[in-house]
Amino acid sequence: MPTLQMEIKKGVGVSPGVVIGTAVVLDAEDIVIPRRQAAPGTEAAEIARLGQAIDAAMAELSVLRERMSKVQAGQIAGIFDTHVSILKDKSVLKEITQEINTNHASAEYAVSVVMRRYAQMFLGMSDRYLSERVGDIYDIERRLLHNLVGQKREDLAHLTRDVIVIAHDMLPSQTAALDKHHVKGFATDVGGRTSHTAIVARAMGIPAVVGLGNITAEVSGGDTVVIDGNRGVVIVNPDEEQLAEHRELGRKQIRLEDELKGLAHLPGVTQDRHQVSLWANIEFPIDIDAALTRGAEGIGLYRTEFLYLAADHEPTEQDHYDSYQDAIQRLAGKPIVIRTLDLGADKYTQEKAATPERNPFLGDRSIRMCLHDIPMFKKQLRALMRASVLGDVRIMFPMISTLMELRQAKMILNDVMEELEDEDVPFRRDIPVGIMIEVPAAALMAADFAKEVNFFSIGTNDLVQYTLAVDRTNERVAGLFCPAHPSVLRLIRDVIRAAVRTNIGVSVCGEMAGDPLYTLLLLGLGLTNFSMNGPDIPEVKKIIRSTTLEHARAVARKVMSFDSERQVMHFLREETRKILPEVF
Ligand code: PEP
Ligand code: MG
Repeated sequence: MPTLQMEIKKGVGVSPGVVIGTAVVLDAEDIVIPRRQAAPGTEAAEIARLGQAIDAAMAELSVLRERMSKVQAGQIAGIFDTHVSILKDKSVLKEITQEINTNHASAEYAVSVVMRRYAQMFLGMSDRYLSERVGDIYDIERRLLHNLVGQKREDLAHLTRDVIVIAHDMLPSQTAALDKHHVKGFATDVGGRTSHTAIVARAMGIPAVVGLGNITAEVSGGDTVVIDGNRGVVIVNPDEEQLAEHRELGRKQIRLEDELKGLAHLPGVTQDRHQVSLWANIEFPIDIDAALTRGAEGIGLYRTEFLYLAADHEPTEQDHYDSYQDAIQRLAGKPIVIRTLDLGADKYTQEKAATPERNPFLGDRSIRMCLHDIPMFKKQLRALMRASVLGDVRIMFPMISTLMELRQAKMILNDVMEELEDEDVPFRRDIPVGIMIEVPAAALMAADFAKEVNFFSIGTNDLVQYTLAVDRTNERVAGLFCPAHPSVLRLIRDVIRAAVRTNIGVSVCGEMAGDPLYTLLLLGLGLTNFSMNGPDIPEVKKIIRSTTLEHARAVARKVMSFDSERQVMHFLREETRKILPEVF
């Protein structure tokens, strides 16, 4: 098998942009291979390093074997025997040295290429026992790399060169910690479009493709990789033709972005003078500056749970307050909707939980978790109310599914207000209170909820997941995750209607709001407030400024007459292409 065989892989494009770069493959311990090629003439030295690493690995394995055989005779110690026999295998060694001699690979890169080749071979085997050996191969690779890379391991938050990160999965908090200047793109084996990892990538403007199956087995550190986040394609070791094509696509994308930048400070208004507010979603206060540069007129969703995800201790009331104060100051009077903790499911590592849940998306997440842990909830509410006098602050409860939940949450908020009053701490008593509509139960009862809140924000990511019974993070069902499904569209239409009739505010803050495919439809359904990732604002604004409300209404009428998501998407693509031909 030639080393640099081109591979084109299709996954789920979750963050747009086309980039070409050098891969770093993260294993469970985030080992980054520092270099792919060794200088000519250093082959013997590389082979000697390889020999030392193999010796060291064998020594480690014999210690481990010794230790295990004392506690657990037989089977477990036998695993280490398997590892030793792979390390001693002449054909494995021959393949690795061949990489070094013929392709001038560094010892690390040669190990990685050969081990991943074996992993691929095992993965393809139908015999379950053999296909499960792939874990052993990764284990050996990791052990050898540890010995070769030693202390030279790189920290992804402090890179010194541009890279493309290839990983099995990334936690949302890991993604948020990436060094934006050097991580040019990323690709993962698992994940779906509205997983929080994807959302964070989009907010950071890092092109990304997820749900690729086994990309970590197919890429070695140092390989050249193309990430096409628009089409959900990853090309490993592209040939000249692919390189040229994607360089051109990358240039086009930059031209489009430059053109859209000009729109940042123009109002979101249709040609028939209908005003639309375009707000941004953020995970951290620091994201506000970039959102404002892109033209955000407010923050429609502040995902405060990221304060928990990024910290190694439980945030204190003052930690909350400091973050809110920081956000409010950056906004200089513009509105901010602070959503209370939405921990759980993919935003709370199940590993941290005392008893991991079997179905975390249907479990103790979000407002449910807060109502089960009132001291934690109150801590946040106190900070939020103290910050309410610093600017235009609104409060929003996530994942409400029953009226009782809403009433309970409001009661706790009232308790907090009374406590603050007793302490003579100033706060805004008439702070607007809203809820996310992201569970079908709440959407169906929107008219009832509308009587008890000041605004709704439709969270389409969860609404789609719960309406269609499709896990938003599962790549195997990513094709079924579709906001264009008529059932979802009818729920959205009815929620907007209920809000308009009761004269309360309504916005959409799920990913659908930032997808230009749905702009005409949402506008036509009567939506006047869209909240999205900052980078999506210019495209959505371009559509709004290029159309009329009347036309959008006609589009919505037609869409609502369809009974399949395919028809909906086809029609919306045709209509949107007329306005944004560069994207569709
Ligand atoms: C949603 O569910 O649509 C939403 C905006 O909230 P989150 O993505 O944080 O779950
Ligand atoms: Mg949600």
